[in-house]
Amino acid sequence: MLDVSQIKTELEEERVRVVKQLAELGDDVAGSDEIGAEEGFADSGAVSAERREVYTLIGTMRDSLGEIDAALARIADGSYGTCERCGNPIGDARLEALPSARWCLDCAAVVER
Ligand SMILES: [Zn+2]
Repeated sequence: MLDVSQIKTELEEERVRVVKQLAELGDDVAGSDEIGAEEGFADSGAVSAERREVYTLIGTMRDSLGEIDAALARIADGSYGTCERCGNPIGDARLEALPSARWCLDCAAVVER
């Protein structure tokens, strides 16, 4: 049987890590979503490439933050572990491997490329 409270703890710990890393990268999590649209791309090549990498990283981390928040919201409203697409159980093994999974394996194969 899946221990949802354990998963919730793990997700919350992961969230703290992601938020901290975002802060270290200089991203304001509470700020706007305009990543990469700011100043800086007019800089010399090397600097721009470096910034671009940071922005890409920030984007990836914001995505995982969104996944974590969505999973925590599903735990809160009791829909955790249910596929968002077909409504079937996602499966304990899959949730243990990927706590923020929102689709069952079958749907993930369709939705994710
Ligand atoms: Zn499904």
